[in-house]
Amino acid sequence: MSTASHDPSVPGKFDVLVIGGGIVGSGIARDAAMRGLTTALIDKQDFAAGTSSRSSRLLHGGIRYLAQGKIGLVREASREKMVIHQIAPHLADPLPFIFPTHKRSTWSLWKLGIGVKIYDLLSGGRNLGKSSILTRKRILELLPGLQTSKLTGAVRYFDGLTNDARLVLDTLRSASHHGASITNYVRFVDAHPENGRWRCDLQNTPSHKHYEICAKCVINATGPWSHDLPHSETTLRLTKGVHLVVDRSRLPVPDAVVFAEGSRILFAIPWGERVILGTTDTDYDEPIDFPHCDPEDQKYVLDVVNDAFPAVALTENDVISTWAGLRPLVADKHGKPSDISRRHEIKMSHPGWWDVTGGKLTTYRLMAEETVDEIADYLNIPLKPCRTATTPLLEQRDSVQVSGIEPPEVCQEAVEHYCQREWAVHLEDVMIRRTSWRYYHCEHMDIAENVAKWMGRILDWSSEITTRELEHYKSLTDSGFASTPSS
Ligand SMILES: Cc1cc2nc3c(=O)[nH]c(=O)nc-3n(C[C@H](O)[C@H](O)[C@H](O)COP(=O)(O)OP(=O)(O)OC[C@H]3O[C@@H](n4cnc5c(N)ncnc54)[C@H](O)[C@@H]3O)c2cc1C
Repeated sequence: MSTASHDPSVPGKFDVLVIGGGIVGSGIARDAAMRGLTTALIDKQDFAAGTSSRSSRLLHGGIRYLAQGKIGLVREASREKMVIHQIAPHLADPLPFIFPTHKRSTWSLWKLGIGVKIYDLLSGGRNLGKSSILTRKRILELLPGLQTSKLTGAVRYFDGLTNDARLVLDTLRSASHHGASITNYVRFVDAHPENGRWRCDLQNTPSHKHYEICAKCVINATGPWSHDLPHSETTLRLTKGVHLVVDRSRLPVPDAVVFAEGSRILFAIPWGERVILGTTDTDYDEPIDFPHCDPEDQKYVLDVVNDAFPAVALTENDVISTWAGLRPLVADKHGKPSDISRRHEIKMSHPGWWDVTGGKLTTYRLMAEETVDEIADYLNIPLKPCRTATTPLLEQRDSVQVSGIEPPEVCQEAVEHYCQREWAVHLEDVMIRRTSWRYYHCEHMDIAENVAKWMGRILDWSSEITTRELEHYKSLTDSGFASTPSS
């Protein structure tokens, strides 16, 4: 499979143009291509550079939504969690969670004990593992440093751990394999309807060159940007969530741990030799392109963990990396951010134009299936049935050593693969989305030097480009991403 990047020599007419290469757009492109529609997908940045590389990386039904009585939402996501485990086992490890309970907390042991049994049943009765109730003695064996005051016990239940950006990239590889034209660094500028099609003005972001394509159907899958896109009729409420990465030797948890903070919950999620801590949920009205982890966000998360594990006493010096993402939630002006529904919305706002918003990583495949069903109705043509729930995302040999939950080994072969077969054109594309090396390794700057050398050879960079890529990468701080350097 060869991949186009900067110079999209795509033919001009498509059945479907998907705007946005996050998880939602990628899922739609894969489904549309598999059903026989001529499909193009563009993203103004790198694929997954938006929310879809900034999540908690969980495949989950949502134990919190169960407590809110949203059974339908939990059932839907729990089933999809199992589907992803089937179609992409390399990106869906069973992950046990220990949820300690305390006297006089809203999360009582008996309620949670019943809740986790219902949770197992909602996954079709065969969750990724069987839930159980743990005694106080057993939790302290598993989590020796845990605060014991008011501790009554714990429940242990299962969800899945994934790698959000890799799920996007492997979904796109599958879409491309089924014939979709996939291009990063191309921005949707505007469109107008003409003879039953949308004539779309697109701009290659490095060269600023404009070009046009026509599509019978256009899908706005731009996540947090979706209410700003021309023709969009969607209204969002954006909330920010941050994550911190610390060394697992500082917080040696065998399973994921849940921390209750009122009605909210935070997690410590084991990730190889690291632990991911998160997340927050606060209203956001700053620029969408650069959400970052503020010192207050970091302090809040560290305080929650330190309250639960007082002897651990994590400080900002323990933080290896951070990321922050924006939840594109279907608007609800009222209520706390954590209470806003995570439901998705698929809306044909104009003939042949859909706004697809909300939902979560876990439910992306279902969102795609429902969207392509609507496209089929609109086009009034018989399409092949949806097969995304049963067709593996990749052949097993295609994922070995280049795609997984933990970062791959740092080596030139992997970088060659990302440049030649996964659309990577900038240093940050490899360091962040393709590999997570940026987040995982303390010495990521040394790794970046080597990767820049390798990418320079593969992509024929001049020494100026190599220097600019490195400088740009150096300028990235834990607080987010700068804009992509222009060539
Ligand atoms: C903190 C946090 C934690 C989360 N944790 C989980 C979790 O553990 N499990 C789970 O299931 N879900 C989780 N979610 C939810 C999930 O991450 C999101 O629902 C999902 O990633 C949204 O994907 P998307 O494709 O809609 O948006 P995005 O990933 O943001 O993709 C939109 C894309 O559109 C592109 N774009 C924008 N404008 C244009 C334009 N004009 N032209 C071309 N392209 C454009 C952007 O560059 C971007 O790549 C979490 C979300 C957050 C914020």
